[in-house]
Amino acid sequence: MTKSFTCVDMGKDCAWSTRANNVYDLMQRISWHAEHKHDIKEIPEKLKEKIKVSIRDV
Ligand SMILES: [Zn+2]
Repeated sequence: MTKSFTCVDMGKDCAWSTRANNVYDLMQRISWHAEHKHDIKEIPEKLKEKIKVSIRDV
């Protein structure tokens, strides 16, 4: 099942969204975006938990 994530769900003023075929690939894309757009070099565990909760099945 395709998974999707939208940055605005994290309370960021950011319209970026992404999707992938599994959570692992999705997290890779989110990590890249977090580093390049939000200057988050490594996503803290607490934020990861929040991200996982906001991941949706498409
Ligand atoms: Zn963003």
